[in-house]
Formats: sequence, structure tokens, C-alpha cells
Amino acid sequence: ASPEEDQKKINARMAQIKQKICVLSGKGGVGKSTVAVNLATALADAGKKVGLLDVDIHGPSIPTMLGLGRMSLVSNADSVDPIQVGNLKVMSVGFLNQNEDDAFIWRGPMKMGVIKQFLGDVEWGELDYLIVDCPPGTGDEPLSICQLIENPDGAVIVTTPQQVAAVDVRKSLTFCQKLELPILGIVENMSGFACPKCGEVVDIFQSGGGEKIASDFSVPFLGKLPIDPAIGKACDAGRPFIQSYAASETAHMMREIIKPL
Ligand code: ADP
Repeated sequence: ASPEEDQKKINARMAQIKQKICVLSGKGGVGKSTVAVNLATALADAGKKVGLLDVDIHGPSIPTMLGLGRMSLVSNADSVDPIQVGNLKVMSVGFLNQNEDDAFIWRGPMKMGVIKQFLGDVEWGELDYLIVDCPPGTGDEPLSICQLIENPDGAVIVTTPQQVAAVDVRKSLTFCQKLELPILGIVENMSGFACPKCGEVVDIFQSGGGEKIASDFSVPFLGKLPIDPAIGKACDAGRPFIQSYAASETAHMMREIIKPL
């Protein structure tokens, strides 16, 4: 198909979705997918129709986080069905992988083809929200995703205290500004350590940088989330943290963070 036809197809899909939110980060490993999964789960649990699209080509972690390690996709004539978990519909690059341990060795043009297919061919139907877990950084891939979606409603930027000092977060913010993509807010993840015995949060690296950058750029600061071993456990167990540790202090903080979205 021509690029125009691809775009038309994507637009038709996206027109059925009320709110499209991209989750971005300057680097990998900061908790972008964790935020995306828990945000999508919280919205779905609140009764919204939600799609979660994992286009993190380099490290699709959403299947593991949702316990969907070995799902096979159902293809129709010119579309593919997402995997349904309650109110949540999920599509991930990880579903295309036969072996979870395979590293992705796709070349540039192939990646673009997959990104386009994921945006144009997934049978979401009508949704209240589509949460898009983008590849990290501000390179060609997140750029293409944001451009192909044409008018995402906004971006959530996930960072860590260490990363705030680096240029990455600023780059992500500038990236959104250039694309005229509204910034819904910044999340400072892995901010301090929540003691598993008493729950007190101890700052390991200096925290508060996320708040400072948010104020420098005049964008909302959504909140901080400590390092909590339960987040890793929930991830390994394949059940979203916000569900499996719903009563914990960190889960409460997470709900506060996603409340404005
Ligand atoms: P990214 O999508 O930015 O690459 P992930 O969301 O995959 O990052 O998180 C990387 C790893 O860190 C995962 O194993 C996840 O469970 C863990 N993790 C993320 N946030 C926290 C946190 N606040 N506390 C403890 N572990 C976390």
C-alpha cells in the first residue's frame, strides 16, 4: 500500500478512539512500560474501554507484565484482533516474537512497517483510551509513531531522579513541543526507596528534579513513585501492580499520579 493509503487506514482506526495518550521516556529502563500498564489497567478497572499498544520494539515488556507471555494472535482478512483481558485490549510487538528470549534484530525499514501495521491493522473498535507505550528516546521510531497517530491527545513522560540531571528528559520535552504534542505531565519514577518493613521512603539519589523540570517547562508534575520491590514482583507475576498490591502505599501513590489523566 502507498504511504497515503497506510495513513488513511490509521486515521480511520484512530477516529474511533476518544483519547490517545503516548507514554514516552528519554531512556529505557525507567519504568515507562510499568506506568503504561498500570495507567491502562486503572482506566479499564474504572469501566473505560481501553487499548494498550506496546510499540517498544527494543524491549516489549507488556506481555510479561500482564501474564500474556505466549499468546497467539488471530488474524482476519486485513486486520488483527488485540488480546482481550477484561475491559483491556492489548497489542504488543512481543506477541510477534516466537521465543520470549529472542532479541529483536529488525532493520530500520522493517521496524517502520511493523509500526505502521500496528497502528493501522489492529481491530480496536471503539475505545475511550488508547495508551501507547513508545520506544524510548527521541529518535525516528517514537517520532514516526507520534506523527502517524497525527493528533495524539497528549504525552506522559516518565523519568528517574538520575535521568533528570541528564539531557534526556529535556529532549523528550522538546520533542513534544516540536510535535505540538500536549504534555499531560511528568512522572518521577524510582524516586527513593520504599522500605518493605516500615514503608518509609528513603531518597537514594536526590529527588525532586522531575518537579523542577516540570516547572521549568510549565507542564504538570504528576508525582513521584518510589523504588518498590513489589513493582518488580507484580511484573514477574504477570498481574499489574495496581491490582495485585492495591492496598499498598505505593499503589496509592500510583493512583494519585494517574488520577488527572
Ligand atoms: P521501561 O519501559 O522504561 O524500559 P519498565 O517499565 O520495563 O521500564 O521497568 C524496568 C524494570 O524496572 C521492570 O522490571 C520493572 O518491574 C522495574 N520497575 C519499574 N518501576 C519500578 C519501581 N518504581 N520500583 C521497582 N521496580 C520498578
